[in-house]
Order: sequence, then structure tokens, then C-alpha cells
Amino acid sequence: MYDCRPGKRMNYMTLEVPARSENESFVRVVVAAFVARLDPNLEEINEVKTAVSEAVTNSILHAYEDDNGLIKINAVVEDNRLFVEILDTGKGIEDIARAREPLYTDKPELERSGMGFTIMENFMDEVVIESAPGKGTVIKMLKVFGKVAESNH
Ligand code: ATP
Ligand code: MG
Repeated sequence: MYDCRPGKRMNYMTLEVPARSENESFVRVVVAAFVARLDPNLEEINEVKTAVSEAVTNSILHAYEDDNGLIKINAVVEDNRLFVEILDTGKGIEDIARAREPLYTDKPELERSGMGFTIMENFMDEVVIESAPGKGTVIKMLKVFGKVAESNH
């Protein structure tokens, strides 16, 4: 999905936090700060923040449930692109196609709406889900900034 070979214009960061709910806003702000040098507009920054926050919330809520596992975040920026991945080693997803469906949730009793993956897909340019039951989940997302300006050239 994205070539992570270090290059002159490439910058990266990696972050690891326990799956505690207070870290959801922390991670969201860190990723927003990391992409700031790409000069994103308000809409783009909010889209990135929301998508990251949905993925991190899923790891906290679904992957580990009551345990405090670790969540790892890797991000790369190059040119006008952000590649970000959110990894957990929690329970994993048995049926990825079903999990991606709008309104699918395994926690209706917690009043989840089942819209997390749909939001990620709408706000990011690419979303790849890799998961293995009992091993964990990786969400890989790509965001291209300044697309409107680019198409006007
Ligand atoms: P909402 O995000 O609207 O609060 P939700 O989290 O249930 O509700 P999605 O984010 O779309 O909805 O996720 C759909 C389903 O995929 C979840 O209900 C859960 O079963 C599964 N899932 C998502 N992320 C993970 C994860 N990191 N580990 C294990 N299962 C996951
Ligand atoms: Mg969710």
C-alpha cells in the first residue's frame, strides 16, 4: 500500500500506549501534530483525527475489552501523503468483510453504532484491515492532502 523506504522527504514516527480510553485523544492529537507540516486544511485534519480515533477506540474497546494491552501507532509522511497504521495484539476479527459493513457491531448493548470502519473509509483514501483471531489487528490507512489544489494544476 505504501513504500516505507526512508527517503529525503520522508519522515516517520512511532508511538506505543496502553489501551486506555484516555489515550484515544492523546494519539489523535499526536498524529494531527505530526501531519501539521503538510499544511492540511481544517477538514483534512479533522478527517485524519476522526479516522485515527475510530481505529484506536476499536483497539481499546474490542481488541482487549477489559485488559490493558498495547496499541502501537506508526506514521509516515512523504510529499503530501500520510500513511498511518494502528496495531493491536488483541482478540482479532473473525470476519473482516462483515466487520466493515456499515451498522455491523458486536456490541449493540453498549450502544455502538457500527460505523467506525465506514467513517475510516469515508475520511481516508485507502483503508486496509489485516487481522487474525487470537493474534490481533492492523489497520493501515492512507491520506492524500491537498487533492483539490492538485487537480487544478
Ligand atoms: P462504533 O465504531 O460505531 O462505535 P463498532 O466499533 O462496533 O461501533 P466498527 O468500528 O465499524 O463498529 O467495528 C465493527 C466491528 O469490528 C466491531 O463491532 C468489532 O466486532 C470488530 N472490530 C473492530 N476493530 C477491532 C479490533 N481492533 N479488534 C477486534 N475486533 C474489532
Ligand atoms: Mg468502532
